[in-house]
Amino acid sequence: MRIDKLLSNMGYGSRKEVKSLLKKGSVLKNDEAIKNSQSHVDPNEDIIKVYGEIVEYKEFIYLMMNKPPGYISATEDARESTVIDLLEPEDIIFEPFPVGRLDKDTEGLLLLTNDGKLAHQLLSPKKKVGKTYYAKIDGRVTEDDIITFNQGVALDDGYVTKPADLKILTRGEISEIEVTIIEGKFHQVKRMFQAVEKEVIYLKRLSMGNLTLDPELQLGEYRELSDQEYRSLK
Ligand code: URA
Repeated sequence: MRIDKLLSNMGYGSRKEVKSLLKKGSVLKNDEAIKNSQSHVDPNEDIIKVYGEIVEYKEFIYLMMNKPPGYISATEDARESTVIDLLEPEDIIFEPFPVGRLDKDTEGLLLLTNDGKLAHQLLSPKKKVGKTYYAKIDGRVTEDDIITFNQGVALDDGYVTKPADLKILTRGEISEIEVTIIEGKFHQVKRMFQAVEKEVIYLKRLSMGNLTLDPELQLGEYRELSDQEYRSLK
């Protein structure tokens, strides 16, 4: 990897700024100054120092966020706030993007990464990664709904959903449920309840595959995945 790319990825400035840093002799590769911005380094083998401090290089970043309502799951938008607006600059430099989408009013687990391959695997319909949501429903959710969800629900556009696992947590005029789906159609959970004539009034994602939302994370907070969490996604 080129040294100027590595350093600008790590937040040491633009390519131009990094070039002048190199020219000044402030960057060492295995304790020897490198001045040419086109020099190649091996981030896994070479020890790179800037102003005497070792640069801990990582290519990918994996963040778990408790998405708050009011933010859209996109990297940029002309009018709306995006989940990227909630990140610190030192994380934004990795250019993470949300893995899948939660609606603007949906809360809960959102994974952000710049690892396109992993994102693709998690989103691929073939992999059938389960996503579990907690929801409050305006209406009485019934045993029949459990069966319907399990058999597949015909959505407003005629698409029949894959079997979903519905659990009723509280019964009443307002029901509380947990539902696990293995797809990610647009507004899927809301539309599945619409199909059984009920309305989702609160939606929060609890888990995605083996990754579970850390209950310590307040709305809008995020942290890097632990090694164990990262490995559990594979
Ligand atoms: N289903 C929905 O309806 N909305 C979401 O945000 C996620 C799943």
